[in-house]
Amino acid sequence: MKMYIGGEWVDRDSKIDVINPYNGSVIDTVPSGSFDDLETAMASAVRGAEVMRNMPGYRRFEILRRAADIMAERQDELGRTISMEEGKIIGEGVAEAERAKQTIELSGEEAKRLYGETIPLDGATNWTGQYGFTMRVPVGVVAAISPFNFPLNLVAHKVGPALAAGNSVIIKPATDTPLSALKLTEILLEAGAPAESIQCITGSGSRIGDPLVADPRVRKVTFTGSRDVGERICKTAGLKKVTMELGSNSPLIVMSDADMDKVIAGTVSSGFSNAGQVCISAQRVMASSDIYGDFVDALTEGVQGLTTGDQLDASIKMGPMVRSEDAVRVNSWIQEAVGAGARTTTGGEYEGALHEPTVVVDVKPDMRISRDEIFGPAVAVSSFDDIDEAIASANDTIYGLSAAIFTQNVDWAMQYAKQVHSGNIQINAGPQWRADLMPYGGLKDSGMGKEGPKYAVEEMTETKMVIFHP
Ligand code: NAP
Repeated sequence: MKMYIGGEWVDRDSKIDVINPYNGSVIDTVPSGSFDDLETAMASAVRGAEVMRNMPGYRRFEILRRAADIMAERQDELGRTISMEEGKIIGEGVAEAERAKQTIELSGEEAKRLYGETIPLDGATNWTGQYGFTMRVPVGVVAAISPFNFPLNLVAHKVGPALAAGNSVIIKPATDTPLSALKLTEILLEAGAPAESIQCITGSGSRIGDPLVADPRVRKVTFTGSRDVGERICKTAGLKKVTMELGSNSPLIVMSDADMDKVIAGTVSSGFSNAGQVCISAQRVMASSDIYGDFVDALTEGVQGLTTGDQLDASIKMGPMVRSEDAVRVNSWIQEAVGAGARTTTGGEYEGALHEPTVVVDVKPDMRISRDEIFGPAVAVSSFDDIDEAIASANDTIYGLSAAIFTQNVDWAMQYAKQVHSGNIQINAGPQWRADLMPYGGLKDSGMGKEGPKYAVEEMTETKMVIFHP
């Protein structure tokens, strides 16, 4: 596909292959964007921001509403594109396309809800008859940098609110998975988005990322990706608003009174959907010591039910990772843990980008498979003696994105919700549950700011205070 900058679809001689990770075939190519291309995109986005700033909310709503309708019409094609370029199974690809449609629809609704408030200035001692209210105004140009693992919905979570709030947006999709973002751009333009309100520039983040983020014409950077790239962006961005949706090694706690069928279903789906490449995948799975042995047996059996192979084959339950280098990395972390005393009860092998779903038990907190974000199809299992130890272990991490507990005890559930430092707390479900309308974002090194269209619109607007004097 071509990239979209300066109000037109453009190609370049220098190209990047987009690969199907299951078989290494080239699905398509995209241009490798240059600094000149970035300048074209930036100058155009500045003009686009003026057009958007002056567009009525109802018109912004109509564009996003129409885009959602087109996404519904093209759902199967979008699902297949996601699945081909990213490697998730086709069912998950189509489900992501459906969620992305909802995200754009929800964003459209927010275009009609940019409320200010009346401020009771007469409550101040220096009031002499002033009347004041706030206005919410768009920030201007938004830079939206997205990761590979949800190549459509996470782009929708940035572009939808940016346009709803009356901004222009420059999308920089992940290099491994640019096609879904380009298709969303195509759909938004077809739905009536002004030519310069969107730019979608493809190319390496390590090359064009810094100048994009540092440019003073950008007023807001919304980033989803790894912790280290997020930290670099915060340093480069300088005096700009930033939203950081970063990684995690989410805990999943199994108390002795938990409903074991629910636990196994929740751990298998939370740990292994999208081959474990979800920011809120269950990674550190901790079970009460009095049920530990039974839990390990049941989890092992559950994970053995996951068939692996071609992600486009509807009978397959887990596809490849996005790159074969990631399968090598995941395997080396498993081997490192085994070398330090842990055991695998199932899985442990890989071929190309396809890594077997793996259960590693008797894991210690200082092993890399527990301490760092694995972002792959393996869970690290350990035990604890009581709720206080479970909570301390859940908190023993630099991350805080999502944390789950399975229990029938309301007091334990409430204690967990209050004491675990995490942006999302799941009671009786794995950490991976999300509804696109809810406020979503991490604490600690998992980031700052919230997504979910209502909350992202707040982050992409600024407040002006207006005071009328007598
Ligand atoms: P990544 O390597 O950090 O890349 C994310 C994006 O940043 C890509 O578009 C990348 O471009 C770009 N980038 C790289 N260097 C840059 C720079 N110096 N300046 C600006 N942009 C730069 O992450 P990933 O491997 O794609 O995604 C996995 C990570 O995302 C995991 O840590 C996961 O937990 C996190 N994640 C978080 C959430 C959340 O909501 N909290 C959701 C999904 C994923 P290139 O592709 O060209 O390198």
